[in-house]
Amino acid sequence: MKDVKTIALIAHDSKKQEMVDWAIENVNILKNYQLCGTGTTSKRISDATGLKVKGYLSGPLGGDQQIGAKVAEGDIDLVIFLCDPLSAQPHDPDVKALLRIANVYNVAIATNLATADFVISSPSFMK
Ligand code: PGA
Repeated sequence: MKDVKTIALIAHDSKKQEMVDWAIENVNILKNYQLCGTGTTSKRISDATGLKVKGYLSGPLGGDQQIGAKVAEGDIDLVIFLCDPLSAQPHDPDVKALLRIANVYNVAIATNLATADFVISSPSFMK
């Protein structure tokens, strides 16, 4: 694995504020990683924390697929993907594809903050 690990951050609209609040709370951990995310999520996190977050396209416009491609290429070590379990998403096939490709490559993917907290505080992820 690379020296500096990369975390991808994605949040559906109803989960964006939760993601931003979590990023602010965990800024001292997140600053040790390379960060990327879908368009709106990455910008919201970057504006709120001052962290550099490489932005891909917005999720519904292909951002999930771009991040999936990076997972397949071995460039992403953890995906934090706060999915909205209560609303239909126009890009549901892309959401499923990202979950699938993370499983194909055995890349950690947290779909809620309880899991994200466990992963980023895990000694086996930090090393
Ligand atoms: P967004 O994409 O960060 O550009 O809103 C997230 C998504 O809905 O998949």
